[in-house]
Amino acid sequence: AKARGRGTFCRYDQAMGSAALRRLGLEAELRDALAREQIRLVYQPVRDLAAGRVAGFEALVRWSHPGLGQVSPAEFIPLAEETGLILPLGELILRNACAAAADWPGATRLAVNLSPVQLRSAGLAALVGDALRAAGLHPRRLELEITETALLQESEEALAVLRELQAMGVSIALDDFGTGFSSLRHLTSLPVDRIKIDRSFVSEVGSRADCRAVVSSVASLARQLGLATTAEGVETAEQLRLVQAAGCTEAQGYFVSKPLALGDAVALLRQDRAQ
Ligand code: C2E
Ligand code: CA
Ligand code: CA
Ligand code: CA
Repeated sequence: AKARGRGTFCRYDQAMGSAALRRLGLEAELRDALAREQIRLVYQPVRDLAAGRVAGFEALVRWSHPGLGQVSPAEFIPLAEETGLILPLGELILRNACAAAADWPGATRLAVNLSPVQLRSAGLAALVGDALRAAGLHPRRLELEITETALLQESEEALAVLRELQAMGVSIALDDFGTGFSSLRHLTSLPVDRIKIDRSFVSEVGSRADCRAVVSSVASLARQLGLATTAEGVETAEQLRLVQAAGCTEAQGYFVSKPLALGDAVALLRQDRAQ
């Protein structure tokens, strides 16, 4: 038992070591990638369920590293947050996404993910205003997504920044809803315009009655509060039908479309608008 214990400890220790090394290496690489702007954005369509059209796109960051291949944002965003690199990275993402969306037809919405570190940084509203002006994008076309878990921990000051953004015309979406234990009371007081129902509920909507109940309760509560609802991670026709029946206003996920390169997103939009 003792030998096994030591073996376990060694494996654990090694795993920790290589993770730490990987992080150390990645931080330098991330700085480099930022300096060279080796980071790009893909755009995942969001479908309006009543109109059956593309309502907008969510910008998702991609880092293709020459040696490491695709590094997932789930890995490098937390690292960028710890090191403070999220501020230049987040600004690059915001400016590039706004510039891309300025060429999209009509009222097509652009959603950009916002880190809580950005929300707490000084001058966020001014930065967003400047990115919109520089791109020539109307504020009403921009939505900023912040996770439920992050928003629950925010101070009054951070919430005031969100209200300032809303006053400019920018909308706010509560991302990954259902994972952060908001009380219903929160929903009436938080500065949000949309709820994005987490994929963990949507992926079970066809197989679990409790998940179906959560999705329809959230959608009907949102409707009564005047909020829009997006079902995230819709992967099948059945899930699409069920989230629509539950009253979600929009759907996003591989069944609608995977995230697309900018050119493909624009082509999809032209096709969609021609119908
Ligand atoms: P998120 O904001 O919840 O983004 C949705 C994630 O789910 C994306 O992963 C997307 O590619 C993936 N997804 C979309 N549809 C489906 C589906 O039908 N099935 C499955 N299994 N997955 C689906 P991605 O692009 O790897 O991003 C992961 C997370 O990284 C995001 O979660 C977000 O928290 C963060 N992130 C991505 N881009 C940015 C960014 O520009 N800024 C910040 N701050 N965070 C970002
Ligand atoms: Ca998001
Ligand atoms: Ca999400
Ligand atoms: Ca998620």
